Amino acid sequence: MQLSARILVVEDEPDIRRFVRMALESEGHEVFEAPSQQRGLIEAGSRRPELVIVDLGLPDGDGVDLIRDLRGWSSAPVIVLSARSGEVDKVAALDAGADDYLVKPFGAGELLARVRAQLRRQALVPSTAQPVLRFGRTTVDFARRVVERDGEPLHLTPIEYRLLAHLAAQPDRVVTHQQLLKAVWGPGHAKDTHYVRVHMANLRKKVEDDASMPRHLLTEAGIGYRFRP
Ligand code: CA
Repeated sequence: MQLSARILVVEDEPDIRRFVRMALESEGHEVFEAPSQQRGLIEAGSRRPELVIVDLGLPDGDGVDLIRDLRGWSSAPVIVLSARSGEVDKVAALDAGADDYLVKPFGAGELLARVRAQLRRQALVPSTAQPVLRFGRTTVDFARRVVERDGEPLHLTPIEYRLLAHLAAQPDRVVTHQQLLKAVWGPGHAKDTHYVRVHMANLRKKVEDDASMPRHLLTEAGIGYRFRP
């Protein structure tokens, strides 16, 4: 399935902008460009893009502010571009509502794969959530709150279930430790990232074939997790 979309690229470096544009156009996307945060917001407002790619280091401000502003009125997926050293920025961008990130330098193949994943996710997110999700040998019935593996009931603790349900509801999206803590434990546990690690390890033992080489509950080092269906 080829999904073509209107995509806004906010990036101040002309070479990278050109490279991204050419890659996206090769897959039939319609591309709009902006070299600054301010111009990016104007373009976003007038072009109504279906996906936005934002560089975090912009000359007139922070890409994170742009994402926060955008999230006030748009649910279009956002992929951020960041320098290798910008781990804190990446987490801030994801917490502000970005969906995924690419670390510079990146190849066209990697860029297009991330774009496809976000467009697929957007197309698949129905107005009512999918009632049953299957991945590997595991089935999650959200309506009945039942998890099965090879057709046999799988016992998950309430925390494990909430972890799995929260991640599985957002396939291919990077979810930060902060977002998971808030969603699963509540707002009072923002600092307790070790909770996530411990319960994730237990959850992986139950739903992954090999918990040391997870195929569905993937670690984003220093940032959080990503569910791959
Ligand atoms: Ca830049």
